[in-house]
Amino acid sequence: MQAAEGSSGFGESCLMLTKLSEMKEGIIVPPADLELPICDHCNLTCSHCNHCSPALSPWMARPQQILDDLTCLAPIYRPKRVKILGGEPLLHKGLVEILQAVRESGISPWVFITTNGSLLHRLDPRVWDLVQEIEVSRYPGVLSESNLEKTRQTAQERGVRFTVVDYSHFRANFSRHQNLDSDLVFRIYRNCKVVFLWGCHMLKDGWFFKCPRAAYLLPLLGKEASLDGLRLEKTEDFQSRLLEYLNSATPLQACSHCAGTLGRLEPHHLGPRAAWKDLSLDRPVSELLEPGGLT
Ligand code: SF4
Ligand code: SF4
Repeated sequence: MQAAEGSSGFGESCLMLTKLSEMKEGIIVPPADLELPICDHCNLTCSHCNHCSPALSPWMARPQQILDDLTCLAPIYRPKRVKILGGEPLLHKGLVEILQAVRESGISPWVFITTNGSLLHRLDPRVWDLVQEIEVSRYPGVLSESNLEKTRQTAQERGVRFTVVDYSHFRANFSRHQNLDSDLVFRIYRNCKVVFLWGCHMLKDGWFFKCPRAAYLLPLLGKEASLDGLRLEKTEDFQSRLLEYLNSATPLQACSHCAGTLGRLEPHHLGPRAAWKDLSLDRPVSELLEPGGLT
């Protein structure tokens, strides 16, 4: 962890702690995980879903595209872990082929799946040989301990880490209304843990995103996700452009529709799918923020 001042380009007024991507022995080392969404859709409809999955049409990643993208990235970028997620990743019928592609790329020794757990009963047994960890995001009323017990036992037998993280609340996050207060947009971005602490990078369909939310929010608002992403290229200067993009002090386009990690904590609930967009995006950003959260 390092102070932002003097290292991030934020200037003297920004004193928050950040974790940035660094060059080590010729390779970019990001703060944490590389996220690989393998399907957009989900069987649940959580309010404030960060990937907007309840409002998205079905989409599934192709194993060959995953292999091509990771093979391109692996020589220049080395995440600690690769996180397979969605939407709900267990909806992907080619999950085994996807995992084989990730392993073949050699980009990280630790591959794990994050799932809502509701489909674990139909997990392909071959998956146990291909992952180091399965993480369940558990939401109120969706899973009981008895639903998880069999998978927990199998994980123990197969030497795979099995973790369950309970989420009773989500933070309000997105607005369809553009936040025109550029100072507020900058301060939300500057305080955003997604980019500057957690380092949740994402690779999707040939594009690299330093914020996964941007990849989903812009298309939902009728804009091109590419406005906030970087196209993977096998060019000599790609690594330096990637590092500059990752550590840039300039907010993304999506930040003007987002409360970052400063949104109000609201109880998790599953809403009607058809109304998800209206219910989740209607408030202006200023009304999404937790009072007193900004520095
Ligand atoms: S389980 Fe909920 S939060 Fe996770 S992708 Fe599905 S709708 Fe979104
Ligand atoms: S869109 Fe901007 S403010 Fe929102 S989570 Fe991403 S980087 Fe943070």
